[in-house]
Formats: sequence, structure tokens, C-alpha cells
Amino acid sequence: MARKSDTPAPAAPGPEPEVVRVHAHRVACDGVGGALGHPRVYLDLGVDGTVDCPYCDRRFVLDGGHGDDAPGVYEVSGGH
Ligand SMILES: [Zn+2]
Repeated sequence: MARKSDTPAPAAPGPEPEVVRVHAHRVACDGVGGALGHPRVYLDLGVDGTVDCPYCDRRFVLDGGHGDDAPGVYEVSGGH
């Protein structure tokens, strides 16, 4: 098998990051429990509306409509 026309495969051998849609600009994440659990951290989605959890690598994306009910994720509603 010649590999002369390699298609650029995505270099992501690990598990692909999970995207969690939230509708708060601030979330708290403490993992999904078990092996992926971690100390609770507060993440600010900022102006671009996305943030990655430094512990469990889940990506939180601001969604104006509805949010996902993901385990270990707490939406922080502040100042309304
Ligand atoms: Zn996390």
C-alpha cells in the first residue's frame, strides 16, 4: 500500500473533547465523577462564549437557547 495521497487526518489520538452547551456566562465544573472528577473550578466563558475546563478538557460553549444537562456542570447565574 503506497501512501502517496495521505489525507490529513486529525491528529487527535485521545478522546475527543466533549462540548457542553450552557446558557450562563459562568459555569462551575467538577468533572463527571469517578476517574474524571476534579476539584470544582469556576470558568468564565468571556466574550467569545467558549472556555475549556483545564481539568477534564470539556469545552463549554454559550448557547442562547438551551443548555445541555451535563453531569458535574453547574451554571452560575449571577447578577440578574
Ligand atoms: Zn471539568
